[in-house]
Parts: sequence; C-alpha cells; structure tokens
Amino acid sequence: MSGIEQAKMLSRRLSVLGSTGSVGVSTLDIVRHARARHGGDAFPIEALTANSNVELLAQQAREFRPNFVAVADSARRGELASALAGSGIAVASGGEAVLEAAARPAEIVMLAIVGCAGLPPALTAVKRGARLALANKECVVAGGEIFREALAASRAIVIPVDSEHSAAFQVLDFNQAHAIEKLTLTASGGPFRGWKRAQMAAVTPEQAVAHPNWSMGAKISVDSATLMNKGLELIEAHYLFALAPEQLGVIVHPQSIVHCLVAYSDGAVLAHLSAPDMRTPIAHALGWPLRISSPSARLDLAALRQLTFEEPDAACFPCLGQAVDALRAGGAAPTILNAANEVAVEAFLRRRIGFLDIPRVVEETLAQDHKTGAAADLDAVMAIDERARVIAGGICREVAA
Ligand code: NAD
Ligand code: MG
Repeated sequence: MSGIEQAKMLSRRLSVLGSTGSVGVSTLDIVRHARARHGGDAFPIEALTANSNVELLAQQAREFRPNFVAVADSARRGELASALAGSGIAVASGGEAVLEAAARPAEIVMLAIVGCAGLPPALTAVKRGARLALANKECVVAGGEIFREALAASRAIVIPVDSEHSAAFQVLDFNQAHAIEKLTLTASGGPFRGWKRAQMAAVTPEQAVAHPNWSMGAKISVDSATLMNKGLELIEAHYLFALAPEQLGVIVHPQSIVHCLVAYSDGAVLAHLSAPDMRTPIAHALGWPLRISSPSARLDLAALRQLTFEEPDAACFPCLGQAVDALRAGGAAPTILNAANEVAVEAFLRRRIGFLDIPRVVEETLAQDHKTGAAADLDAVMAIDERARVIAGGICREVAA
C-alpha cells in the first residue's frame, strides 16, 4: 500500500456505538494498536456510546478524545457529565443521543450495541452513507427487508464484523454470484456440544456464558450455547449476501478456526481461517479495502494438529431449526423470533426461567403472535418487536410460575 493510501485510511473518523461491550473494547484496542504504530491521530474518534457503564465510557473518552459521548440510560447522564467536566467533550443521554452519535460525521460507524436496540442507529448511519462496521446481528434479523432497502437506497456500505460474515465477505466472489452454490457457516457448538437434552435442564447462566473458544458479551454467549446465535447468523447472511435459504448451511467445528466455507460451481471450496479473536474481523472492517495490523494471536495449524467437523444436533438444540423456519417463513417471523429470544435470554440470565425454556418461549411466542407480512418501515418493525416482547414476557412469567 502506498504511503498516501495508508494515510488516507488511517485518517478515517470512527464512531463506536456500544464502546463498553466486548466488541467495543476490542475495537478501541485496534485503534490503540494503530496509534502506537502510526501516531496518535490514527482513526480519530467522533463519538462513543454506552448503555449504562459510565465509568468505562468516561475512561475511554479520556483516552480516545471523542467529540461526543452518549449514554442511553438518561439516569446516568449527570455522572458522565461530571466525570468529563472541563474535557471539552460534549455529553448527551437517551435514545436520541445514541441516534445523534450515529448521525455525526464519522466515515466509519462500528455498531457494537447488542440487540434490536441497534436497529435505529444502524439505519441512521446507513441513510447518511456511512461505512457500517456491523457487529450487531439482531438489527439485520429484526430489520430484514427494511435494512436491505435502506442499504440499497444509500451510498452506505456494510463491512461485516461477525466473524463468519467477515470471513464470507472475504471469500465470496460477488462478481460471480451465479457460481456460488453454498455458504456454510461454522459453529463451535457451544459449551453443551454433545450433551443430552435432559442434562441441559439444570444449566446455570454461569455455565451457559462460559464459551469454550470466544470471550463475548452475556447475550451472545447464551445464544451460542442454544445455537440460536448460528440461526440468527443464517438470517443475517441471507440479508447481507442475498443468498437463498437453500444456499445457506451450518456445520459444527469445535475449534473455531475455519469461520466459513464457500462452495463454487466448479467444485472448489474457499474457506477462511484465523485464530478465534474478534480483533481480526474488527481490523478487517476498519482497514478495508486495505489490511491493517492486529495484535490477534497467529494461527499455528501444526500445533493444533486437527480440525474436526460434525453435523449440528437439531434435536438437542431446537433454536437453530426455529431460526431456519423463521427465515423460510419471512415476513414478521424473524423479527418475532429475535424479540422472543432477547426476552427469553434476559429472563434466563436473571434466573427466572431455565435454559430449556428459551426455545419454549420462542416457540410459543411465534405460535401466539398473529403473523403479519414484512414491515414497511422502522416504526412497523419496532411495533412488531414490541408486541412480541409483550407476548414473550407473559410466557416467561407463566413458565416461571
Ligand atoms: P456486550 O453486551 O458486551 O456489549 C453491548 C454494548 O451495547 C455495550 O457497550 C452496552 O453498553 C451497549 N448497549 C446495550 N444495550 C443498549 C441499548 N439498549 N442502547 C444502547 N446501547 C446499548 O455485547 P457484545 O458481545 O460486544 O456484542 C455486541 C454485538 O455484537 C451483539 O449484537 C453480538 O451478537 C455481536 N457480536 C459479538 C461478538 C463477540 O465476540 N462479542 C461476535 C460476533 C458478533
Ligand atoms: Mg459469529
């Protein structure tokens, strides 16, 4: 890469939405690494946001000097303002402030918020033509068609950060879409791979979040344990890469070294490999189309000796099939599936329902909610999401009683 290209790439302004979470912290680690190598002005930060962790947000703001910080929980605004008093950094709070962070002029918006709460800021960033470094998968699942339409109508570009989708983005040959037969996402299988259903009845939140290969936020860790994460990822791949449900598959690969496989019409299969470290796909999204350095662990296949693959156990992990059914059904089904899952996972983490109740809540919410066609706009998606949350909340209370 020429010096001019590199300087241009490093001068891109970046906003990190959800900077205090697992992906947010890793993103700022890549910025720190770039600044150590290339100087303190690499990836100037426009905005940082968090839900409620104002201590870490203020600490990040002092280190990275953004122009703007926002905390979604308005009750924490005073604390944030006093922690940053005299810094010259603008402070705001509430959902509107998170939208303002997405609207501010950063060339790259890292969307590292968890859940459907990421959908409104995602659309704000897309509509102004930003590059969306997309970690949040729930916004694609819940938003579906409206997310795809907003992208098509804007200059915005999505660079996936979810490791399997980052991998697919790199090995899918978009110029020869006709030749793509199948995209297979790999799944680690989570902490309960090989378990029987009866064994999972007494699983605790601590056991469910203890992922064998990845260190992640609590919600996605539980999703990985139920395999709903892989189901959400199939839906995400459908919308991001315009592949039909029949062209998408899942294979369990416990080592999490191969992230995806793309089969082409001539019989060739292209795979993407890396050590399981989110800083690799994050660095890819920040640097693209160039490659930048990441301090991630390097792959040593000789030390690993073997990579193994197996079919997912559909009977023990019903969430995967539920997601595939929702993908095939289309319309409001993926939005309802996602909302019910968010509510069920939250209830499980609060010890109100059991691990095996998660698929039950999802199933019953999908059955009770009257089906509608695809939503026409953001308000309609959020209304479907809200209605499903109310139904799922009621089912959680019944299950807990
Ligand atoms: P996390 O729980 O560690 O962090 C979530 C971040 O979002 C925090 O900064 C939190 O303050 C913020 N947030 C939460 N609720 C919010 C709300 N209602 N409004 C505004 N901000 C809110 O989650 P994570 O593990 O970093 O995951 C973030 C997203 O990236 C998820 O969608 C997840 O599926 C996806 N993802 C994560 C990983 C990973 O390794 N952690 C890998 C692939 C994809
Ligand atoms: Mg993933």
